[in-house]
Amino acid sequence: MKTYALATLGCKVNQYEGDQIKAQLAGLTNVPFGQAADLYIVNTCSVTAEAEAKARQLINRARRAGPGALIVLTGCWPGEQTKRFKSLGVDMFFDNASKADLVKSLLVNGSGGRGDANPRLKTSRTRAFLKVQDGCDRFCSYCSIPLFRGKPASRPIGDVVAEVTALVKVGVPEIVLTGIHLGKYGVDLAGGRNLLVDLMKAILSRTTLARLRLSSIEPREVTDGLIDLMAGEAGIARHLHIPLQSGSDKILSSMNRDYTAGEFLSLVNKLRRRLPDIGLTTDVIAGFPGESDDDFLSTAATIKEAAFSRLHVFKYSARPGTAAATFPGQISPAVKKARAVALKELGAVLAADFAAGFVGRPVSVLVERQSRGQRSGLTSQYVRVKFEQAPKKSDNPIHAVGIKTETDVLIVRKSNG
Ligand code: SF4
Repeated sequence: MKTYALATLGCKVNQYEGDQIKAQLAGLTNVPFGQAADLYIVNTCSVTAEAEAKARQLINRARRAGPGALIVLTGCWPGEQTKRFKSLGVDMFFDNASKADLVKSLLVNGSGGRGDANPRLKTSRTRAFLKVQDGCDRFCSYCSIPLFRGKPASRPIGDVVAEVTALVKVGVPEIVLTGIHLGKYGVDLAGGRNLLVDLMKAILSRTTLARLRLSSIEPREVTDGLIDLMAGEAGIARHLHIPLQSGSDKILSSMNRDYTAGEFLSLVNKLRRRLPDIGLTTDVIAGFPGESDDDFLSTAATIKEAAFSRLHVFKYSARPGTAAATFPGQISPAVKKARAVALKELGAVLAADFAAGFVGRPVSVLVERQSRGQRSGLTSQYVRVKFEQAPKKSDNPIHAVGIKTETDVLIVRKSNG
């Protein structure tokens, strides 16, 4: 085998694991998915019906582009319904528990091409995702993840700090800590308590990382300790992604979420008092079973009041094995679609409002993309800034300069586009 193509769907944890597979296959040539290859790997997600449909499309593309190629499926989907993949033309399956053995098994099967033992060291990214935790035992009624990812399992602090140190050494200026249930980091380690704040303190004190960001955290796990740390450390991104899911207390209870809309908004207010510029992004589900027009309006009102800077809107899709799949009051596809569209439009307005608040103000940007004089990158608050010419170096840059990227202070101006 000489060439392979890999496609990863779904969350940041899956992306991290996809990158690890890629790096371990560094002895093979990576080609874009859809081109002829000897090996195709689809790293799947089963959180929504759309994600499954995309995986099916990728398998079909692989079959067309590489007749006779080995097609391998991994991620959350294989854990669910392995048997029917054979009929789709998939040759090998690796659920999440056996994902780490995927490359080893392929080598046994003669694919060749083992890469770096520490794949992260080859990253070329400005922003690297770093998985520190796996698993969830929360069982939100719509979510199938606990069925495939198992109980919370955390990496020891020393391991994480060592990986951050290595990434900083090769010039990565920003690291995003990811986990399936990040706020549970540490509960399975000695002491049995949440150690996320301890982990962040260890990274900040023992490495020279320029910017540390969290991928997603549940509202109840945004502790006073975390807020204090964020308020006192310029190296932590002024951004949190806190899943709201619904603004209706009735629906939140039915989802088995452990907060009310009022409690969520109190948290938002507390965060804005301590960190006035913070960017707050969220996930929301449109058309959960039993969601009335009033419930939907409560969600829209909560979103407006929270003034999120970005919304990820999902149409509810019943996942096999979850409690909500059997709930009465399933919403029609047309209503789900209309509500999702309305929320996306609201999200676009709020995102523009949030970004407009930075016009005329200096921001620190880590450049992620550079092409023909065009550059773009993210601010600490997770606002994407695009600019054309090389930015003027600040006399007093907020962060150190990275190897492949620059941290510069730009004055944001209103976009014409
Ligand atoms: S907290 Fe809820 S939504 Fe998140 S992974 Fe766990 S069960 Fe799924």
